[in-house]
Amino acid sequence: MTFVSVPKSGTLALNEKSQSLAASGRPIYRFGFGESPFPPPRHVQKALRKAALRKDYTAVAGLPELRARIADFHTEVDGYPIDAEQVLVAPGSKPLLFNCMQAFERAEVYVPAPAYVSYAPMAKLARHQAIRIQTSYDARWRITPEALEEAIARHSKPGREKLLALNYPGNPDGLTYSRAELLALAEVLRRHHVWALSDEIYALLHHQGRHVSLASIYPERTLVSTGLSKWCGAGGWRLGALIMPADAPVELHDALIGLGSELYSCAPTPVQAAALAAYELDKRTHRFLRAQRQILSATGCVVHSAVLAAGLRVHAPQGAFYLLCDFSCFADLLLSRGIQRDIELCDSLLTEAGVALLPGSKFGLPARALTARLAYVDFDGAAALTTQRAQEDILPHAKKMLAGIAALDNWLN
Ligand code: PLP
Repeated sequence: MTFVSVPKSGTLALNEKSQSLAASGRPIYRFGFGESPFPPPRHVQKALRKAALRKDYTAVAGLPELRARIADFHTEVDGYPIDAEQVLVAPGSKPLLFNCMQAFERAEVYVPAPAYVSYAPMAKLARHQAIRIQTSYDARWRITPEALEEAIARHSKPGREKLLALNYPGNPDGLTYSRAELLALAEVLRRHHVWALSDEIYALLHHQGRHVSLASIYPERTLVSTGLSKWCGAGGWRLGALIMPADAPVELHDALIGLGSELYSCAPTPVQAAALAAYELDKRTHRFLRAQRQILSATGCVVHSAVLAAGLRVHAPQGAFYLLCDFSCFADLLLSRGIQRDIELCDSLLTEAGVALLPGSKFGLPARALTARLAYVDFDGAAALTTQRAQEDILPHAKKMLAGIAALDNWLN
C-alpha cells in the first residue's frame, strides 16, 4: 500500500512535544505555537452563543450579509473598493489558500524562504511545483524584485500559471513590506502576469495599524486571504475569507465554489453569525484592535531587546507576534556541542532549557542557517487587555517570556 506523504504540520508537532514535557511537570517556555493570546471581544462571543442553534448550512460562499459586511470592513480599512461578490467565506483561510492553488490546473507556486509552513505542502498536494525564493537576514527576510524576476526566469514553463504566496506581516519573521517595496514587486508581478496569493491574516495586527494591502496596488491578480483567526483571537472558530479581484475570471470563482462545495460545504453557521458582529467596524472593534496592537508592539519590543542582549541577530518586529532569531553567530559554540542544524538546536533547547522554538527549516530556510522562530504569545491576553486599559502597562505579562529568554541566554552563554 502507498499513501500520500504529508508530514504533520511542523508547528503542531512541536506544540505536542512541549505539551507532553509540560505535562510531566517541567517548566516550559512556550514560544513555539503562534496562537493569538487574546479572547474574541465579549459582544462577539455573545453573538456566537446567541447563534448556537443555527444548524442550517449556508451558501458555500457564506451568508450574503456577512460577505457584504466583510467587503465594507476591508473597503474601509484597506482603502480600496470591494464588493460583496468578491468575498468568499470558508472554515479558515487555509482551505481558501489551498483551493486557490487547486483551482489552477497547471501552475508553479513561488514561495519565499522563509514563509508560512503550509504553502509548499499545499502546492505539492495541488500537484504544482513549489519554487523557493531564498532571502537573507540582511535583506530583512524580504524577497526583492530582482530575486522574483530571477526565479521566474529560471523556473517558469510555458502553459503554467504563476502564483506567488506572499504573507505580511509575516509568519515567521514579524516583518512587513512597505508600500514602496510592494510597488516594486507589483511591477514584476504585472509584467509576468503572476497571481499573488496575498496572505494578509495578520494585517490588522500591524503594530502601527499601517498595513498596505497588495490588492490596493495590484488589484487585477491579487487574491487576499484573511479571517478571524489572528486579529479576533478566534483560530479554533474557523472563519476565513478570500477577497478576489473585482474582475476575476468567472471560471476561477466557479472553481473555488465547486471545490468548497465538495470539501467543506460552508463555514460553521453560528461562527458566520458571530463574524457579522466581529466585522462591524464600530468603536468596540477599533478599541479592541488598538489595545492588541499596543500590547503586541510593547511586548515585541521588550522581547526583541532581550533576545538581542542574549547575542542573537534578530530584527525588531513590525506586526503579528513573531521574531525570527538567527543563531549563526553561535555556530562554533553549537558545533562544539554537536549541534549543526536548527532541528537539533530546537530539540536541545527544549529538552535542556525548556525553551520551545520552531526551527527555521520548517519555514524553508536551510537547516544549517541555524534560525528559529519565537512567538511571543505565552501570556494571558485577557488579563493583559484589562491591565493595559487600566494602567497602560503590559510588562507584568511579559515576565514569564523574559524568564524564558533568560533561560535561553543561560543555555547559550
Ligand atoms: N496564514 C498564516 C501566515 C498563518 O500564520 C496561519 C496560522 O497560523 C494561517 C494562514 C492559518 O489561518 P486560518 O486559521 O485562517 O486557517
